[in-house]
Amino acid sequence: MASIALSRVGKSFGTVSVLNEVDLAIEDGEFIVLVGPSGCGKSTLLRMIAGLEEITTGTLTIDGERVNERRPKDRDIAMVFQSYALYPHMSVADNMSYSLRLRRRSKEIIAQAVSAASAKLGLDPYLERRPKALSGGQRQRVAMGRAIVRKPKAFLFDEPLSNLDARLREQMRAEIKRMHGELGATSVYVTHDQIEAMTLASRIVAMNAGAVQQIGAPLDLYDRPANLFVAGFIGSPG
Ligand code: ADP
Ligand code: MG
Repeated sequence: MASIALSRVGKSFGTVSVLNEVDLAIEDGEFIVLVGPSGCGKSTLLRMIAGLEEITTGTLTIDGERVNERRPKDRDIAMVFQSYALYPHMSVADNMSYSLRLRRRSKEIIAQAVSAASAKLGLDPYLERRPKALSGGQRQRVAMGRAIVRKPKAFLFDEPLSNLDARLREQMRAEIKRMHGELGATSVYVTHDQIEAMTLASRIVAMNAGAVQQIGAPLDLYDRPANLFVAGFIGSPG
């Protein structure tokens, strides 16, 4: 588990500023959901936390330590993408164990981690298959399995369920909630789906145009949106 803090974090691509002085203190074990329109900077924010994108200004700390310059693999954070990003030429088991093999973990540790993750996610029957022989929901499970085998301190999810149909989305949403309860790892989750935000979040962060509009418990935003933008995105229709 980890606490993650952004202090006046900004991001520019060339001369274009896409995030502006973002302040966000995420507690150990929280489930933070980021919402906001397309292009407002959600993915960029996640990628900066993961270390996949340089931070232009401000400070990012994990467990109180500045990590702006720390490489992704030394941040102990796993990211789950909408597009799954599985290795097509590897079996499910090899996809899941890849990060552990990269870190030269022992065969026993790898086997144990993969078997625990695959049992959690119902992937036992599929371990020897290639990703292309799986359904969308199964692929997303593999992507989650790959994230949990490392026992990271934190998970970052970038619209992980938006390629799934409504029924599967609901099922996976329940599964993510259950896994968060079991693993207790700090999570930052981006979604467009209001129900996902309301049911998963300990706190919701509403963003627009590169700036945080409001941070609060789901019902706070729903009942007392800070402005029309938040009201339109998450607020009660009344
Ligand atoms: P969101 O995930 O909220 O849809 P993004 O974080 O992907 O938004 O993008 C925020 C803004 O930054 C957008 O205007 C996007 O075009 C821009 N952007 C993202 N990545 C790059 C990049 N590598 N180079 C230039 N502009 C980028
Ligand atoms: Mg995005």
